[in-house]
Amino acid sequence: MTHNDPDVLIVGAGGSGLAAAVSCAQHGLSVLVLEACAEIGGTTGIAVGSFTASQSELQRKQGITDSPEQHANDLTGFAPSQIEARNNSTQRAFFTKHVAETMNWLQALKIKFVGPVAEPPNRYPRMHNVIPGAKAYIARLQIAAQKQGVEIRPNSTVTKLIINEGHVIGAEYQDAAGEIHLVRAQLAVVLAAGDYANNSELIKRFKGGGYENIEGINPHATGLGHLLAESVGARMVNMDVTYGPELRFIATSQTPFQQWLPVSGPLATIQNWIAGLLPDWVFRKLIKRLLVTWQHPEDALFEHGAILINRHAERFCDELDTATRNRAVSHQDDRQAYILLSADQVEKFSQWPHFISTAPDIAYAYIDDYLRLRPDVTLKSENLRGISQAANLPLTRLVETANSSFSNLNGPWVLLGPVKSYFTTTEGSPAINEHMQVLNTKDRVIEGLYAVGQCGLNGMILWSHGCHIAWAMTSGRLVGESIALKARR
Ligand SMILES: Cc1cc2nc3c(=O)[nH]c(=O)nc-3n(C[C@H](O)[C@H](O)[C@H](O)COP(=O)(O)OP(=O)(O)OC[C@H]3O[C@@H](n4cnc5c(N)ncnc54)[C@H](O)[C@@H]3O)c2cc1C
Repeated sequence: MTHNDPDVLIVGAGGSGLAAAVSCAQHGLSVLVLEACAEIGGTTGIAVGSFTASQSELQRKQGITDSPEQHANDLTGFAPSQIEARNNSTQRAFFTKHVAETMNWLQALKIKFVGPVAEPPNRYPRMHNVIPGAKAYIARLQIAAQKQGVEIRPNSTVTKLIINEGHVIGAEYQDAAGEIHLVRAQLAVVLAAGDYANNSELIKRFKGGGYENIEGINPHATGLGHLLAESVGARMVNMDVTYGPELRFIATSQTPFQQWLPVSGPLATIQNWIAGLLPDWVFRKLIKRLLVTWQHPEDALFEHGAILINRHAERFCDELDTATRNRAVSHQDDRQAYILLSADQVEKFSQWPHFISTAPDIAYAYIDDYLRLRPDVTLKSENLRGISQAANLPLTRLVETANSSFSNLNGPWVLLGPVKSYFTTTEGSPAINEHMQVLNTKDRVIEGLYAVGQCGLNGMILWSHGCHIAWAMTSGRLVGESIALKARR
Protein backbone atom coordinates (compact mmCIF):
# COMPACT_ATOMS: atom_id res chain seq x y z
CA MET A 1 0.00 0.00 0.00
CA THR A 2 1.39 3.39 -0.93
CA HIS A 3 0.36 6.66 0.71
CA ASN A 4 0.02 10.03 -0.90
CA ASP A 5 -1.25 13.30 0.48
CA PRO A 6 -2.04 15.95 -2.15
CA ASP A 7 -4.17 18.98 -1.26
CA VAL A 8 -6.70 17.86 -3.83
CA LEU A 9 -7.44 14.41 -5.17
CA ILE A 10 -9.33 14.40 -8.46
CA VAL A 11 -11.20 11.28 -9.56
CA GLY A 12 -11.13 11.15 -13.38
CA ALA A 13 -8.97 12.73 -16.08
CA GLY A 14 -11.67 13.69 -18.58
CA GLY A 15 -12.62 17.27 -19.42
CA SER A 16 -13.92 18.36 -16.02
CA GLY A 17 -11.18 16.56 -14.07
CA LEU A 18 -8.36 18.11 -16.09
CA ALA A 19 -9.97 21.55 -15.92
CA ALA A 20 -10.28 21.12 -12.15
CA ALA A 21 -6.64 20.00 -11.93
CA VAL A 22 -5.36 23.03 -13.83
CA SER A 23 -7.55 25.42 -11.88
CA CYS A 24 -6.55 23.97 -8.49
CA ALA A 25 -2.88 24.10 -9.45
CA GLN A 26 -3.22 27.69 -10.68
CA HIS A 27 -4.50 28.51 -7.19
CA GLY A 28 -1.37 27.05 -5.63
CA LEU A 29 -2.78 23.68 -4.58
CA SER A 30 -0.99 20.36 -5.03
CA VAL A 31 -3.03 17.96 -7.15
CA LEU A 32 -3.14 14.25 -7.88
CA VAL A 33 -5.49 13.01 -10.64
CA LEU A 34 -6.43 9.34 -10.70
CA GLU A 35 -7.74 7.99 -14.00
CA ALA A 36 -9.33 4.55 -14.34
CA CYS A 37 -8.38 4.06 -18.00
CA ALA A 38 -4.97 3.62 -19.54
CA GLU A 39 -5.58 6.79 -21.56
CA ILE A 40 -6.90 10.07 -20.24
CA GLY A 41 -9.75 11.99 -21.94
CA GLY A 42 -13.01 10.24 -21.03
CA THR A 43 -16.11 11.06 -23.06
CA THR A 44 -14.72 14.57 -23.57
CA GLY A 45 -11.92 13.09 -25.65
CA ILE A 46 -14.29 11.38 -28.10
CA ALA A 47 -16.82 14.22 -28.32
CA VAL A 48 -17.34 16.59 -31.23
CA GLY A 49 -16.12 19.46 -29.09
CA SER A 50 -18.85 22.07 -29.40
CA PHE A 51 -18.97 24.58 -26.57
CA THR A 52 -22.02 26.76 -26.11
CA ALA A 53 -21.53 30.17 -24.57
CA SER A 54 -23.04 33.65 -24.49
CA GLN A 55 -21.08 36.94 -24.24
CA SER A 56 -17.96 35.34 -25.69
CA GLU A 57 -15.22 37.30 -27.42
CA LEU A 58 -16.06 35.52 -30.68
CA GLN A 59 -19.69 36.62 -30.38
CA ARG A 60 -18.51 40.19 -29.85
CA LYS A 61 -16.33 39.95 -32.96
CA GLN A 62 -19.49 39.05 -34.90
CA GLY A 63 -21.22 42.09 -33.40
CA ILE A 64 -23.58 39.96 -31.26
CA THR A 65 -24.83 41.49 -28.03
CA ASP A 66 -25.90 38.62 -25.82
CA SER A 67 -26.49 37.95 -22.13
CA PRO A 68 -26.39 34.97 -19.74
CA GLU A 69 -30.03 35.65 -18.86
CA GLN A 70 -31.16 35.40 -22.49
CA HIS A 71 -29.03 32.28 -22.86
CA ALA A 72 -30.65 30.63 -19.81
CA ASN A 73 -34.04 31.60 -21.16
CA ASP A 74 -33.42 30.08 -24.59
CA LEU A 75 -32.23 26.83 -23.04
CA THR A 76 -35.79 26.20 -21.89
CA GLY A 77 -36.69 25.46 -25.53
CA PHE A 78 -34.42 22.49 -26.25
CA ALA A 79 -35.59 19.43 -24.35
CA PRO A 80 -39.06 17.86 -24.66
CA SER A 81 -41.36 19.55 -22.12
CA GLN A 82 -41.53 16.58 -19.73
CA ILE A 83 -37.72 16.55 -19.51
CA GLU A 84 -37.39 20.33 -19.31
CA ALA A 85 -39.85 20.29 -16.39
CA ARG A 86 -37.13 18.50 -14.39
CA ASN A 87 -34.57 21.28 -14.88
CA ASN A 88 -32.90 23.09 -11.98
CA SER A 89 -33.20 26.65 -13.33
CA THR A 90 -31.05 28.25 -10.59
CA GLN A 91 -28.20 25.92 -11.41
CA ARG A 92 -28.55 26.49 -15.16
CA ALA A 93 -28.56 30.28 -14.68
CA PHE A 94 -25.36 29.85 -12.63
CA PHE A 95 -23.84 27.93 -15.56
CA THR A 96 -24.72 30.52 -18.22
CA LYS A 97 -23.42 33.30 -15.94
CA HIS A 98 -19.95 31.75 -15.69
CA VAL A 99 -19.48 30.12 -19.07
CA ALA A 100 -18.01 33.11 -20.99
CA GLU A 101 -15.27 33.49 -18.38
CA THR A 102 -14.50 29.79 -18.82
CA MET A 103 -14.06 30.28 -22.52
CA ASN A 104 -11.60 33.12 -21.92
CA TRP A 105 -9.74 30.86 -19.51
CA LEU A 106 -9.55 28.03 -22.06
CA GLN A 107 -8.41 30.42 -24.78
CA ALA A 108 -5.63 31.62 -22.47
CA LEU A 109 -4.58 27.95 -22.25
CA LYS A 110 -4.25 28.05 -26.07
CA ILE A 111 -7.47 26.20 -26.79
CA LYS A 112 -8.79 27.61 -30.04
CA PHE A 113 -12.41 27.99 -31.09
CA VAL A 114 -14.23 28.94 -34.27
CA GLY A 115 -17.77 30.20 -34.64
CA PRO A 116 -20.17 30.82 -33.05
CA VAL A 117 -22.87 29.32 -35.27
CA ALA A 118 -26.62 29.36 -34.84
CA GLU A 119 -28.54 26.59 -33.13
CA PRO A 120 -32.22 27.48 -32.82
CA PRO A 121 -34.08 28.05 -30.53
CA ASN A 122 -31.02 29.99 -29.33
CA ARG A 123 -31.84 33.52 -30.47
CA TYR A 124 -28.17 34.25 -31.27
CA PRO A 125 -25.31 32.09 -32.55
CA ARG A 126 -23.75 30.54 -29.43
CA MET A 127 -22.25 27.25 -30.55
CA HIS A 128 -18.46 27.54 -30.67
CA ASN A 129 -16.37 24.65 -31.97
CA VAL A 130 -12.97 23.71 -30.68
CA ILE A 131 -10.36 23.02 -33.34
CA PRO A 132 -9.23 20.61 -34.52
CA GLY A 133 -11.57 18.58 -32.26
CA ALA A 134 -12.37 17.68 -28.68
CA LYS A 135 -8.97 16.02 -28.17
CA ALA A 136 -7.58 19.56 -28.09
CA TYR A 137 -9.22 20.16 -24.69
CA ILE A 138 -7.50 17.10 -23.31
CA ALA A 139 -4.09 17.75 -24.81
CA ARG A 140 -3.98 21.44 -23.87
CA LEU A 141 -5.27 20.88 -20.34
CA GLN A 142 -2.82 18.03 -19.86
CA ILE A 143 0.08 20.25 -20.95
CA ALA A 144 -1.11 23.03 -18.62
CA ALA A 145 -1.56 20.59 -15.74
CA GLN A 146 1.88 19.10 -16.17
CA LYS A 147 3.46 22.56 -16.36
CA GLN A 148 1.85 23.28 -12.98
CA GLY A 149 3.23 20.08 -11.45
CA VAL A 150 -0.02 18.11 -11.41
CA GLU A 151 0.47 14.34 -11.27
CA ILE A 152 -1.88 12.29 -13.45
CA ARG A 153 -1.95 8.57 -12.68
CA PRO A 154 -3.63 6.41 -15.36
CA ASN A 155 -4.87 2.83 -14.72
CA SER A 156 -6.00 3.92 -11.26
CA THR A 157 -9.65 3.24 -10.47
CA VAL A 158 -11.02 4.86 -7.34
CA THR A 159 -13.14 2.24 -5.58
CA LYS A 160 -13.88 3.75 -2.19
CA LEU A 161 -14.06 7.11 -0.44
CA ILE A 162 -12.53 7.34 3.01
CA ILE A 163 -14.77 9.20 5.41
CA ASN A 164 -14.00 10.24 8.94
CA GLU A 165 -16.63 11.86 11.18
CA GLY A 166 -18.66 12.88 8.13
CA HIS A 167 -15.62 14.39 6.39
CA VAL A 168 -14.24 12.85 3.18
CA ILE A 169 -10.50 12.66 3.72
CA GLY A 170 -9.27 10.50 0.88
CA ALA A 171 -9.88 7.51 -1.33
CA GLU A 172 -8.76 4.02 -2.14
CA TYR A 173 -7.82 3.10 -5.65
CA GLN A 174 -6.90 -0.03 -7.54
CA ASP A 175 -4.02 -0.08 -10.00
CA ALA A 176 -3.68 -2.16 -13.19
CA ALA A 177 -2.21 -5.06 -11.20
CA GLY A 178 -5.21 -5.07 -8.85
CA GLU A 179 -3.25 -3.64 -5.94
CA ILE A 180 -5.10 -1.29 -3.59
CA HIS A 181 -3.59 2.08 -2.64
CA LEU A 182 -4.69 4.79 -0.28
CA VAL A 183 -4.56 8.52 -0.99
CA ARG A 184 -5.21 11.05 1.75
CA ALA A 185 -6.42 14.41 0.47
CA GLN A 186 -5.59 17.40 2.68
CA LEU A 187 -8.41 19.61 1.42
CA ALA A 188 -10.72 17.92 -1.04
CA VAL A 189 -11.70 14.97 -3.16
CA VAL A 190 -13.27 16.04 -6.46
CA LEU A 191 -15.49 13.57 -8.30
CA ALA A 192 -14.96 14.17 -12.03
CA ALA A 193 -15.77 10.64 -13.13
CA GLY A 194 -18.22 11.36 -15.96
CA ASP A 195 -21.63 9.79 -16.50
CA TYR A 196 -23.27 6.35 -16.20
CA ALA A 197 -24.40 5.84 -19.81
CA ASN A 198 -22.82 2.39 -19.77
CA ASN A 199 -24.06 1.25 -16.38
CA SER A 200 -27.24 -0.69 -17.16
CA GLU A 201 -27.79 -1.59 -13.51
CA LEU A 202 -27.80 2.03 -12.41
CA ILE A 203 -30.08 2.96 -15.30
CA LYS A 204 -32.42 0.10 -14.43
CA ARG A 205 -32.50 1.13 -10.77
CA PHE A 206 -33.59 4.68 -11.57
CA LYS A 207 -35.23 4.52 -15.01
CA GLY A 208 -36.79 1.05 -14.92
CA GLY A 209 -36.39 -2.09 -17.02
CA GLY A 210 -36.10 -2.60 -20.76
CA TYR A 211 -32.78 -0.84 -21.31
CA GLU A 212 -30.48 -3.68 -20.22
CA ASN A 213 -29.10 -4.28 -23.72
CA ILE A 214 -28.41 -0.64 -24.45
CA GLU A 215 -24.82 0.46 -24.15
CA GLY A 216 -23.28 3.83 -23.56
CA ILE A 217 -21.33 5.25 -26.49
CA ASN A 218 -18.37 5.47 -24.15
CA PRO A 219 -17.92 1.98 -22.67
CA HIS A 220 -15.99 3.53 -19.77
CA ALA A 221 -18.93 5.71 -18.67
CA THR A 222 -19.66 3.40 -15.75
CA GLY A 223 -21.01 5.82 -13.15
CA LEU A 224 -18.44 4.93 -10.51
CA GLY A 225 -18.33 8.56 -9.38
CA HIS A 226 -22.08 8.51 -8.78
CA LEU A 227 -21.80 5.30 -6.78
CA LEU A 228 -18.96 6.77 -4.72
CA ALA A 229 -21.06 9.84 -3.92
CA GLU A 230 -24.04 7.66 -3.04
CA SER A 231 -21.88 5.51 -0.77
CA VAL A 232 -21.21 8.50 1.50
CA GLY A 233 -24.83 9.63 1.59
CA ALA A 234 -25.15 12.10 -1.30
CA ARG A 235 -28.60 13.10 -2.46
CA MET A 236 -28.98 11.97 -6.08
CA VAL A 237 -30.90 14.16 -8.54
CA ASN A 238 -32.57 13.35 -11.88
CA MET A 239 -30.96 9.92 -12.05
CA ASP A 240 -33.70 8.65 -14.39
CA VAL A 241 -33.01 11.34 -17.00
CA THR A 242 -30.89 10.08 -19.88
CA TYR A 243 -29.85 11.54 -23.23
CA GLY A 244 -30.95 8.61 -25.36
CA PRO A 245 -31.34 5.84 -26.07
CA GLU A 246 -31.00 6.90 -29.67
CA LEU A 247 -29.91 5.15 -32.85
CA ARG A 248 -26.35 5.63 -33.97
CA PHE A 249 -24.22 4.01 -36.61
CA ILE A 250 -21.66 1.67 -35.11
CA ALA A 251 -18.25 3.25 -34.75
CA THR A 252 -15.85 3.13 -37.64
CA SER A 253 -12.86 0.85 -37.11
CA GLN A 254 -10.63 3.66 -38.38
CA THR A 255 -9.50 6.50 -36.15
CA PRO A 256 -11.80 9.46 -36.91
CA PHE A 257 -9.97 12.05 -38.94
CA GLN A 258 -9.95 14.79 -36.33
CA GLN A 259 -8.10 12.48 -33.93
CA TRP A 260 -5.18 12.56 -36.37
CA LEU A 261 -4.88 16.33 -36.40
CA PRO A 262 -2.20 17.90 -34.21
CA VAL A 263 -3.48 19.42 -30.97
CA SER A 264 -0.23 20.90 -29.70
CA GLY A 265 3.22 21.93 -30.96
CA PRO A 266 4.16 24.08 -33.98
CA LEU A 267 2.01 22.10 -36.43
CA ALA A 268 -1.06 22.74 -34.30
CA THR A 269 -0.24 26.45 -34.16
CA ILE A 270 -0.02 26.65 -37.95
CA GLN A 271 -3.15 24.55 -38.39
CA ASN A 272 -5.14 26.65 -35.91
CA TRP A 273 -3.99 29.85 -37.57
CA ILE A 274 -5.06 28.50 -40.97
CA ALA A 275 -8.38 27.31 -39.52
CA GLY A 276 -9.11 30.86 -38.38
CA LEU A 277 -8.75 32.04 -41.99
CA LEU A 278 -10.74 29.27 -43.63
CA PRO A 279 -13.88 30.36 -45.38
CA ASP A 280 -17.02 28.88 -43.85
CA TRP A 281 -17.66 26.47 -46.70
CA VAL A 282 -14.26 24.78 -46.33
CA PHE A 283 -14.76 24.46 -42.60
CA ARG A 284 -18.21 22.94 -43.14
CA LYS A 285 -16.80 20.43 -45.60
CA LEU A 286 -14.18 19.33 -43.09
CA ILE A 287 -16.60 19.17 -40.21
CA LYS A 288 -18.90 16.97 -42.29
CA ARG A 289 -16.59 14.07 -41.49
CA LEU A 290 -17.54 14.45 -37.86
CA LEU A 291 -21.19 14.08 -38.77
CA VAL A 292 -20.68 10.60 -40.04
CA THR A 293 -18.64 9.32 -37.11
CA TRP A 294 -21.05 9.52 -34.19
CA GLN A 295 -24.11 11.46 -35.28
CA HIS A 296 -27.40 9.65 -35.24
CA PRO A 297 -29.60 9.06 -38.29
CA GLU A 298 -32.49 11.52 -38.38
CA ASP A 299 -35.98 10.27 -37.53
CA ALA A 300 -37.08 11.96 -40.75
CA LEU A 301 -35.76 8.91 -42.61
CA PHE A 302 -38.55 6.83 -41.10
CA GLU A 303 -41.14 9.58 -41.42
CA HIS A 304 -40.45 9.46 -45.17
CA GLY A 305 -40.80 5.69 -45.41
CA ALA A 306 -37.39 4.11 -44.68
CA ILE A 307 -37.68 0.94 -42.60
CA LEU A 308 -35.63 -0.88 -39.98
CA ILE A 309 -34.73 -4.51 -40.54
CA ASN A 310 -32.70 -7.03 -38.58
CA ARG A 311 -30.09 -9.62 -39.66
CA HIS A 312 -32.92 -11.87 -40.88
CA ALA A 313 -34.25 -9.04 -43.08
CA GLU A 314 -37.39 -8.83 -40.92
CA ARG A 315 -39.12 -5.66 -39.84
CA PHE A 316 -39.49 -5.84 -36.06
CA CYS A 317 -40.95 -2.55 -34.78
CA ASP A 318 -42.94 0.57 -35.54
CA GLU A 319 -40.11 2.84 -36.69
CA LEU A 320 -42.07 5.97 -35.79
CA ASP A 321 -42.51 5.01 -32.14
CA THR A 322 -39.04 6.08 -31.01
CA ALA A 323 -39.28 4.83 -27.41
CA THR A 324 -40.17 1.23 -28.29
CA ARG A 325 -38.13 1.29 -31.51
CA ASN A 326 -34.82 2.05 -29.80
CA ARG A 327 -35.40 -0.65 -27.22
CA ALA A 328 -36.49 -3.14 -29.89
CA VAL A 329 -33.23 -2.62 -31.79
CA SER A 330 -31.30 -3.60 -28.66
CA HIS A 331 -33.13 -6.96 -28.61
CA GLN A 332 -32.17 -8.00 -32.16
CA ASP A 333 -29.22 -10.28 -32.95
CA ASP A 334 -25.94 -8.52 -32.10
CA ARG A 335 -28.17 -5.67 -30.78
CA GLN A 336 -28.03 -4.29 -34.31
CA ALA A 337 -30.32 -3.31 -37.16
CA TYR A 338 -30.18 -1.77 -40.65
CA ILE A 339 -32.08 1.05 -42.30
CA LEU A 340 -33.45 0.19 -45.75
CA LEU A 341 -34.26 2.96 -48.22
CA SER A 342 -36.02 2.45 -51.54
CA ALA A 343 -35.59 4.72 -54.57
CA ASP A 344 -38.02 7.31 -53.17
CA GLN A 345 -36.06 7.85 -49.97
CA VAL A 346 -32.73 7.57 -51.79
CA GLU A 347 -33.71 10.47 -54.02
CA LYS A 348 -35.05 12.50 -51.10
CA PHE A 349 -32.12 12.04 -48.74
CA SER A 350 -29.59 13.03 -51.36
CA GLN A 351 -30.18 16.76 -50.99
CA TRP A 352 -31.42 19.58 -48.79
CA PRO A 353 -33.65 19.66 -46.79
CA HIS A 354 -33.51 15.87 -46.25
CA PHE A 355 -30.24 14.92 -44.58
CA ILE A 356 -29.21 11.72 -42.79
CA SER A 357 -27.34 13.42 -39.98
CA THR A 358 -26.40 16.92 -38.94
CA ALA A 359 -24.82 19.27 -36.49
CA PRO A 360 -27.47 21.94 -37.03
CA ASP A 361 -26.35 24.96 -39.00
CA ILE A 362 -22.79 23.65 -39.30
CA ALA A 363 -23.12 20.90 -41.85
CA TYR A 364 -25.49 18.27 -43.19
CA ALA A 365 -24.62 14.79 -44.44
CA TYR A 366 -26.54 13.15 -47.31
CA ILE A 367 -26.38 9.69 -48.92
CA ASP A 368 -23.42 10.56 -51.11
CA ASP A 369 -21.50 11.79 -48.06
CA TYR A 370 -22.12 8.46 -46.35
CA LEU A 371 -21.08 6.50 -49.44
CA ARG A 372 -17.86 8.50 -49.54
CA LEU A 373 -17.03 8.87 -45.85
CA ARG A 374 -18.65 5.81 -44.22
CA PRO A 375 -18.57 3.03 -46.83
CA ASP A 376 -18.46 0.60 -43.89
CA VAL A 377 -22.09 1.44 -43.02
CA THR A 378 -23.48 2.33 -46.46
CA LEU A 379 -24.42 0.04 -49.35
CA LYS A 380 -26.05 1.07 -52.61
CA SER A 381 -27.34 -1.30 -55.27
CA GLU A 382 -29.72 -1.19 -58.21
CA ASN A 383 -31.51 -4.25 -56.84
CA LEU A 384 -32.22 -6.12 -53.64
CA ARG A 385 -30.02 -9.03 -54.70
CA GLY A 386 -27.01 -6.71 -54.59
CA ILE A 387 -27.97 -5.49 -51.10
CA SER A 388 -28.59 -9.05 -49.91
CA GLN A 389 -25.22 -10.28 -51.17
CA ALA A 390 -23.18 -7.37 -49.88
CA ALA A 391 -24.81 -7.34 -46.43
CA ASN A 392 -25.31 -11.08 -46.15
CA LEU A 393 -29.07 -10.77 -45.62
CA PRO A 394 -31.44 -13.58 -46.76
CA LEU A 395 -32.73 -12.56 -50.19
CA THR A 396 -36.17 -14.19 -50.08
CA ARG A 397 -37.07 -12.56 -46.78
CA LEU A 398 -35.59 -9.24 -47.91
CA VAL A 399 -37.80 -9.24 -51.00
CA GLU A 400 -40.86 -10.17 -48.92
CA THR A 401 -40.16 -7.39 -46.43
CA ALA A 402 -39.61 -4.86 -49.22
CA ASN A 403 -42.81 -5.96 -50.99
CA SER A 404 -44.88 -5.43 -47.88
CA SER A 405 -43.22 -2.13 -46.90
CA PHE A 406 -42.63 -0.06 -50.07
CA SER A 407 -44.95 0.92 -52.88
CA ASN A 408 -42.07 1.72 -55.23
CA LEU A 409 -39.93 -1.39 -55.69
CA ASN A 410 -37.52 0.11 -58.21
CA GLY A 411 -33.86 0.62 -57.44
CA PRO A 412 -31.57 2.08 -56.41
CA TRP A 413 -31.72 0.71 -52.88
CA VAL A 414 -29.58 1.90 -50.00
CA LEU A 415 -28.86 0.00 -46.81
CA LEU A 416 -27.47 2.01 -43.89
CA GLY A 417 -26.03 0.32 -40.85
CA PRO A 418 -25.53 -1.51 -38.66
CA VAL A 419 -27.15 0.90 -36.24
CA LYS A 420 -27.36 0.29 -32.51
CA SER A 421 -29.23 1.94 -29.67
CA TYR A 422 -26.95 3.92 -27.41
CA PHE A 423 -27.17 6.16 -24.40
CA THR A 424 -25.16 9.25 -25.32
CA THR A 425 -24.98 10.60 -21.81
CA THR A 426 -26.93 10.69 -18.55
CA GLU A 427 -28.21 13.72 -16.70
CA GLY A 428 -28.36 12.53 -13.09
CA SER A 429 -25.76 13.38 -10.45
CA PRO A 430 -25.25 14.06 -6.77
CA ALA A 431 -26.72 17.37 -5.58
CA ILE A 432 -24.13 20.13 -5.16
CA ASN A 433 -24.10 23.74 -3.94
CA GLU A 434 -22.65 26.78 -5.74
CA HIS A 435 -19.16 25.83 -4.53
CA MET A 436 -19.50 22.36 -6.14
CA GLN A 437 -19.65 20.75 -2.67
CA VAL A 438 -21.70 17.56 -2.59
CA LEU A 439 -24.88 17.66 -0.49
CA ASN A 440 -26.39 14.85 1.53
CA THR A 441 -30.05 13.83 1.70
CA LYS A 442 -30.65 16.59 4.30
CA ASP A 443 -29.06 19.12 1.92
CA ARG A 444 -26.06 19.54 4.19
CA VAL A 445 -22.55 19.72 2.80
CA ILE A 446 -20.53 16.50 2.88
CA GLU A 447 -17.28 18.13 3.96
CA GLY A 448 -14.29 17.45 1.75
CA LEU A 449 -16.30 16.15 -1.23
CA TYR A 450 -16.87 18.07 -4.47
CA ALA A 451 -18.36 17.03 -7.83
CA VAL A 452 -17.99 18.47 -11.34
CA GLY A 453 -18.94 17.79 -14.97
CA GLN A 454 -21.45 14.99 -15.49
CA CYS A 455 -20.91 14.03 -11.85
CA GLY A 456 -22.07 17.48 -10.73
CA LEU A 457 -24.99 18.50 -12.92
CA ASN A 458 -27.28 19.12 -9.96
CA GLY A 459 -30.48 18.67 -11.92
CA MET A 460 -29.57 20.77 -14.94
CA ILE A 461 -31.01 19.72 -18.27
CA LEU A 462 -28.32 20.55 -20.82
CA TRP A 463 -30.02 19.41 -24.00
CA SER A 464 -28.54 21.95 -26.43
CA HIS A 465 -25.34 21.01 -28.27
CA GLY A 466 -22.20 22.17 -26.54
CA CYS A 467 -23.55 22.65 -23.01
CA HIS A 468 -22.12 19.49 -21.46
CA ILE A 469 -18.53 20.31 -22.30
CA ALA A 470 -19.11 23.94 -21.41
CA TRP A 471 -20.33 22.81 -17.96
CA ALA A 472 -17.50 20.27 -17.55
CA MET A 473 -14.97 23.06 -18.12
CA THR A 474 -16.87 25.67 -16.13
CA SER A 475 -17.40 23.47 -13.07
CA GLY A 476 -13.78 22.30 -13.27
CA ARG A 477 -12.51 25.87 -13.39
CA LEU A 478 -14.75 27.01 -10.55
CA VAL A 479 -14.04 24.12 -8.20
CA GLY A 480 -10.38 25.16 -8.09
CA GLU A 481 -11.44 28.66 -7.02
CA SER A 482 -13.82 27.27 -4.39
CA ILE A 483 -11.35 24.88 -2.80
CA ALA A 484 -8.61 27.53 -2.73
CA LEU A 485 -10.98 30.10 -1.21
CA LYS A 486 -12.11 27.68 1.48
CA ALA A 487 -8.48 26.79 2.25
CA ARG A 488 -7.57 30.48 2.65
CA ARG A 489 -10.46 31.00 5.04
C1 LIG B 1 -20.12 10.95 -29.14
C2 LIG B 1 -20.32 12.08 -28.20
C3 LIG B 1 -20.17 13.38 -28.65
C4 LIG B 1 -20.38 14.45 -27.78
N1 LIG B 1 -20.18 15.71 -28.25
C5 LIG B 1 -20.36 16.74 -27.41
C6 LIG B 1 -20.10 18.07 -27.84
O1 LIG B 1 -19.67 18.31 -28.96
N2 LIG B 1 -20.32 19.08 -26.95
C7 LIG B 1 -20.76 18.86 -25.67
O2 LIG B 1 -20.95 19.80 -24.93
N3 LIG B 1 -20.97 17.61 -25.24
C8 LIG B 1 -20.76 16.55 -26.05
N4 LIG B 1 -20.93 15.29 -25.58
C9 LIG B 1 -21.12 15.10 -24.13
C10 LIG B 1 -19.82 15.50 -23.40
O3 LIG B 1 -18.71 15.08 -24.17
C11 LIG B 1 -19.69 14.91 -22.00
O4 LIG B 1 -20.89 15.06 -21.29
C12 LIG B 1 -18.58 15.64 -21.20
O5 LIG B 1 -17.42 15.73 -21.99
C13 LIG B 1 -18.31 14.90 -19.90
O6 LIG B 1 -17.18 15.42 -19.27
P1 LIG B 1 -16.77 14.86 -17.84
O7 LIG B 1 -15.49 15.46 -17.47
O8 LIG B 1 -17.90 15.00 -16.90
O9 LIG B 1 -16.59 13.28 -18.06
P2 LIG B 1 -15.51 12.48 -18.93
O10 LIG B 1 -14.89 13.33 -19.96
O11 LIG B 1 -16.16 11.23 -19.34
O12 LIG B 1 -14.37 12.13 -17.85
C14 LIG B 1 -14.58 11.23 -16.81
C15 LIG B 1 -13.28 10.47 -16.55
O13 LIG B 1 -13.34 9.83 -15.28
C16 LIG B 1 -12.77 8.54 -15.39
N5 LIG B 1 -13.29 7.72 -14.28
C17 LIG B 1 -14.54 7.24 -14.12
N6 LIG B 1 -14.65 6.56 -12.96
C18 LIG B 1 -13.44 6.62 -12.38
C19 LIG B 1 -12.92 6.11 -11.15
N7 LIG B 1 -13.68 5.43 -10.28
N8 LIG B 1 -11.61 6.32 -10.86
C20 LIG B 1 -10.82 7.03 -11.72
N9 LIG B 1 -11.27 7.55 -12.89
C21 LIG B 1 -12.57 7.35 -13.21
C22 LIG B 1 -13.21 8.10 -16.78
O14 LIG B 1 -12.42 7.02 -17.25
C23 LIG B 1 -13.03 9.38 -17.58
O15 LIG B 1 -11.74 9.50 -18.10
C24 LIG B 1 -20.74 14.21 -26.43
C25 LIG B 1 -20.90 12.90 -25.96
C26 LIG B 1 -20.68 11.85 -26.84
C27 LIG B 1 -20.83 10.44 -26.33
